[in-house]
Amino acid sequence: MSNKVYFAPARPEKWRYDDSMPGKLERLLRAAGLSHYFSPKEWVAVKTHFGSDGAHRVVRPVFLRKVVEGLRQTGAQPFVTDTVRLKGLDYLEVANRNGINHLSVGAPVVIADGLYGNDNIMVKAGEILGEIAVASLIYDVPGMVVCSHVKGHINAGYAGAIKNIAMGGVSASHRNCGWKCGRGAMHTIGTGDLIWDSEKCELCYQCAEVCPLNAIVFDEGDELAWDGNTCWRCGRCVRVCQAEAINLPGDDERFLRSLAEAARAVLSTFESKKVLYVNFLTEIQPECDCMPMADVPVIQDKGILVSDDIVAIEKASIDILRRSEPLPESAAAGENLDPGGDILFGLNKKNYMIQVEEAERLGLGTSDYELVAL
Ligand code: SF4
Ligand code: SF4
Repeated sequence: MSNKVYFAPARPEKWRYDDSMPGKLERLLRAAGLSHYFSPKEWVAVKTHFGSDGAHRVVRPVFLRKVVEGLRQTGAQPFVTDTVRLKGLDYLEVANRNGINHLSVGAPVVIADGLYGNDNIMVKAGEILGEIAVASLIYDVPGMVVCSHVKGHINAGYAGAIKNIAMGGVSASHRNCGWKCGRGAMHTIGTGDLIWDSEKCELCYQCAEVCPLNAIVFDEGDELAWDGNTCWRCGRCVRVCQAEAINLPGDDERFLRSLAEAARAVLSTFESKKVLYVNFLTEIQPECDCMPMADVPVIQDKGILVSDDIVAIEKASIDILRRSEPLPESAAAGENLDPGGDILFGLNKKNYMIQVEEAERLGLGTSDYELVAL
């Protein structure tokens, strides 16, 4: 498929199944030719994000099922997977509550790095990260379809396929070197000590409530106590603090470049042409699916893209988003963002293209894509 990016717009022209989003996804997968990538009896991971309690705008099960059915038609054996964000058993329950289970998607739903999140293998990443702990299931499986819900992100600015496999293809922690070998190495720098500003803190306890490890408690009700040995440096607590009273030390450019490095580590475990990407430009909310809620979309549904080039599909997705208008009554509406301007940049003020440019520099693909509208 080279630098081709297949695209189907969200709006139907006719009131028939072929013009529905599931129907269009079937068409996109046929055009991409799944049998060129995957062989009969081959195990194929369908990588998605299970979301969290309250964040319901994940890639919908109906679409995951279409990918699973397409893979089955090639004779491949698919399973749907993600890495531990909450402890594994809790995270599988979250997946189930968000509608992602064996019955709905038509394939086993499994955790890629074990129920404890420490089943992983160190893989060379790059000059920032050195090595990173890639989930062992993703390391071992010969093929993968990366299903990404495209949206904004407080740190990444734009979150698509690169972020999906960078953060979601590696573990939170490694059994010997802990968070420093996992995605915490992207989120923070140095010792990654949580910074709390008691003057700004409104004692809402949101940070403690969202911590998957109970690493934050409030002594006497008004003094934040943080367990740095337990903490994964996942950043959930920081993201939910609207008072900006806690932070992890970080560096925006380093974070964005490290996403590309981690993506490279994950992709280095696959042979050429064994990974396909499906970007869903739907329910484009301003924040990540790991938040304890989902805001209303800031950009209208745009459609679905399919490519075997991660850089091409990210650049094509961004180019489409940059031709959008902010949706009324959304977070983008109150920001005086120009129609046709860069809404995701306007919301989070992050130079998100760094992750795409770095991925191209690392040889993961080309931004010089050909858009094929179906
Ligand atoms: S979320 Fe922020 S404001 Fe609320 S308790 Fe935690 S640090 Fe304080
Ligand atoms: S970064 Fe925050 S939410 Fe994540 S494990 Fe550490 S204390 Fe908990």
